[in-house]
Amino acid sequence: MLRAYRYRLYPSEDQKVVLAKHFGSCRFVWNYFLDLNNKRYAEERRSTSFKQMCRELTLLKKEDEYKWLKEVNSQSLQQSLLHLETAYRRFFKKLGEEPVFKRKHKKKSFTVTQRFNIIDNRLFIPNFKGPIRMFRHRDFDGEVRSITISQSPSGEYHASILVCEQDPDVLQMPVAEESAIGIDMGIRTFATLSDGTQIHKPKHIIQSEMKLGKAQKNLSRKRKGSQNRGKQRVKVARLQEHIANQRKDFLNKVSDVLTRTYDTIAVEDLSLKEMMKGNHHRAKAVADAGWYTFRMMLKTKASQRGKNFTEIGRYEPSTRMCSACGHVKSHMRLSERRFVCERCGYTDDRDVNAAINIRRFALISEGVPTESGELTPVDRRTTALELLAREGIRASALVEAGSPRV
Ligand SMILES: [Zn+2]
Repeated sequence: MLRAYRYRLYPSEDQKVVLAKHFGSCRFVWNYFLDLNNKRYAEERRSTSFKQMCRELTLLKKEDEYKWLKEVNSQSLQQSLLHLETAYRRFFKKLGEEPVFKRKHKKKSFTVTQRFNIIDNRLFIPNFKGPIRMFRHRDFDGEVRSITISQSPSGEYHASILVCEQDPDVLQMPVAEESAIGIDMGIRTFATLSDGTQIHKPKHIIQSEMKLGKAQKNLSRKRKGSQNRGKQRVKVARLQEHIANQRKDFLNKVSDVLTRTYDTIAVEDLSLKEMMKGNHHRAKAVADAGWYTFRMMLKTKASQRGKNFTEIGRYEPSTRMCSACGHVKSHMRLSERRFVCERCGYTDDRDVNAAINIRRFALISEGVPTESGELTPVDRRTTALELLAREGIRASALVEAGSPRV
């Protein structure tokens, strides 16, 4: 299995200059060939292959105007082309966004695939005099496939090391009713579980977001091109990175607890693209909450621990269906916080009802009978709540687990 390890880099001033050259040249190559490909596609309706782009790059480097491209590692330039081809391929398969031009102030990166070496806290890559200092806070074991060096908008350098690790033999857990949990992702509450547990967004993230809002407003007031604007931009970037780290930490902890406590985890297959298209504020909230990242983490951790991760179809009426009798409401507004069934009289929190349905759809799709309608046993919920509390995550229990449902 491939796994990425990220370490902070501390390059010397001389190395920073060479790094900047690599970032700039890789960005140039990406933008140059993106432009060329777009024009070619508009005129001739054909896309350019990676191999052809590499040949054209070799010719380009021979021209006087572009000979500065020779100063950087040629495999890194070729990697830019490979990334570009992959981006196109994903776009044509409707798996990703259309590739866009890379801008100077965004995150910068380049990839090295050969002739690198890591010895203790030193990273050796071609075209650099001496090693780059690296803070190796954790170890890895396996064959290194590639190294991506990046600089964040606030100016920090990182190396992301892709390592091929041997899979440990994990025991695959069976899908069973008593150890399955359904998760409903929300905007008011981060996540609601089918056993009535609500996981809340951490207060420190909310505070950081408010700070960021203020800093961004401040930035928009600064005169374009002024020195103060530049300073403020770094401040905003630093805050954004800080929030991203806090969020990642939170999502890691929650996904960790859930994949430890439950054997089967069911979520809704939210078509992110569809959601992003709709309401602008909702789309931002979805992106900010990190739903996509969270699901990826659940999936990875579940597979590492031999647990099951199931996504239910996005056309299943999880919100509008009564989890007690199966009656489907024709309409349910976002403002309705409680689910009230007009057929059997069952009433529950809107999100808990949805999470119970998500769990049931998942069990049905896995071929597990769900006649009893039992909730997850109390002890598992207690364990989850305890583990979450230990990690400092706000969570509360909404309904008495196992209580008879009307
Ligand atoms: Zn009902």
